[in-house]
Amino acid sequence: MKVVNDNTCSWINDLSKRSNIKILSEDKSCDWLIIGAGYTGLSAARKLSELHPSQKIIIVDAQLAGEGASGRNSGYLVDTTLNDGFTSNKELSNYQKKTDIYKLGIDVVKKFIKEHQVDCDWNEAGKYFASSYNEDQKTLINFGDTLSKLGFEYNLFNKEELNKKLGTSFYNLALYTKGGILLHPGKLVRAMIDTLPDNVKLIEQSQLLEWKKHKDNIYCKFKDNTIIAKKIIFCTNGFLKSLGIKENYNFPLTLTASMTRPLTDIEFKSIGEPKEWGLLPVRAMGATVRMTNDKRILIRNTAEVHNPFKMKYNELKKRAIKQKLGIIKRFPILSDNIIESSWSGIVSRTRNSSQIFDKIDDNVFAAGCYNGSGIGVGTLFGEQIAIKASGENSEEINIIESRNKPTWLPPQPFLNLGVRSRLMYERFRSKLDV
Ligand SMILES: Cc1cc2nc3c(=O)[nH]c(=O)nc-3n(C[C@H](O)[C@H](O)[C@H](O)COP(=O)(O)OP(=O)(O)OC[C@H]3O[C@@H](n4cnc5c(N)ncnc54)[C@H](O)[C@@H]3O)c2cc1C
Repeated sequence: MKVVNDNTCSWINDLSKRSNIKILSEDKSCDWLIIGAGYTGLSAARKLSELHPSQKIIIVDAQLAGEGASGRNSGYLVDTTLNDGFTSNKELSNYQKKTDIYKLGIDVVKKFIKEHQVDCDWNEAGKYFASSYNEDQKTLINFGDTLSKLGFEYNLFNKEELNKKLGTSFYNLALYTKGGILLHPGKLVRAMIDTLPDNVKLIEQSQLLEWKKHKDNIYCKFKDNTIIAKKIIFCTNGFLKSLGIKENYNFPLTLTASMTRPLTDIEFKSIGEPKEWGLLPVRAMGATVRMTNDKRILIRNTAEVHNPFKMKYNELKKRAIKQKLGIIKRFPILSDNIIESSWSGIVSRTRNSSQIFDKIDDNVFAAGCYNGSGIGVGTLFGEQIAIKASGENSEEINIIESRNKPTWLPPQPFLNLGVRSRLMYERFRSKLDV
């Protein structure tokens, strides 16, 4: 099946069109082949070029580079997350490992944007974990307790305070942490493409169909051509499973999001002219909602088992209605036709929310499965898997490898049945906050 994207993502459409796109038009060989040109693959390519300046490095993507999840996410570079089941004290050390990885992820993105003077609307605005359910107070207090033990600062806000800060009286309570960053995901990934070193060859709109190892080489079959590589790194995240990578440990989920046009001055005044903010749900299937620096509202309130290769226009439209309703109930004062664009994107999940960072076989490596933290963790894992694949070690690798490993998943059809029923349960639990 062919990876097909909608072309309706606002973040991507904000960017200038790229030219000079190279597709695979002849057989090639290389020292290093990276499959997937999102944050992970681009970061791996940059690191490999630094480690092996005279070797031949190719990075390939099935679509245009950066136009997978990396160009279509919600733009939260997170230092903490809530919906990972780490609210009890006995899980403290596991949670710390997770936040240590998040911190390394933030550092690596920070270093990149500083080094290359990247403008990606970086705003150290922090983030809210918000809920309209009063019962969630207990969850937030427990979470605050966990954060304090690990040295994170936070504040709890009530409905009136939130109304002033967010411009909506929808939420009853929230925990705010100041350590998260909001950014423009498309601008960030575009900068990673534009700054690829000269010894990295980027090939786009060329989908890997099959691969196999034979003796010291890896044979990669594309539609009309083959690439023979000495080493390969799979950075296809939501498509790892479809390429047979750790297939009993990860599965794809399809998310959809919508963005409004910029609010007019009158509309913006009517909601109290809030500063840029980002909010994550307390309940797993609640909506992620964000006010951007140019007064657009983003909402992401679906996550589902769906064919990861394509979402048809009509299917996307149906999901956009959910997003329109989500905006109306939070901002009833705004007109109901302000959504400008809707899009879908694929993420990869594991059963225990842990990431994949592995040697799969001799000369075959993979990184992925970051849930909602791929901006930082993907960039970090890309760089570090390149180091690992080069036979070297780092302090970061030690930290990454001390995390819990992904746990085993049942085969189909049990997997989809299990995931669907879990999502249905979570959707029911979160129904007011969708
Ligand atoms: C709607 C949405 C909201 C999100 N919000 C956030 C957020 O706020 N913060 C956050 O940190 N994360 C968020 N995420 C997750 C984040 O976007 C991902 O974790 C991250 O982009 C993963 O980067 P990646 O490079 O590993 O994968 P991707 O960006 O998905 O790149 C993988 C690439 O592999 C290519 N590929 C797949 N199969 C093949 C093949 N056979 N041959 C060649 N190429 C192939 C794809 O075309 C794709 O470009 C969100 C994701 C979505 C969809």
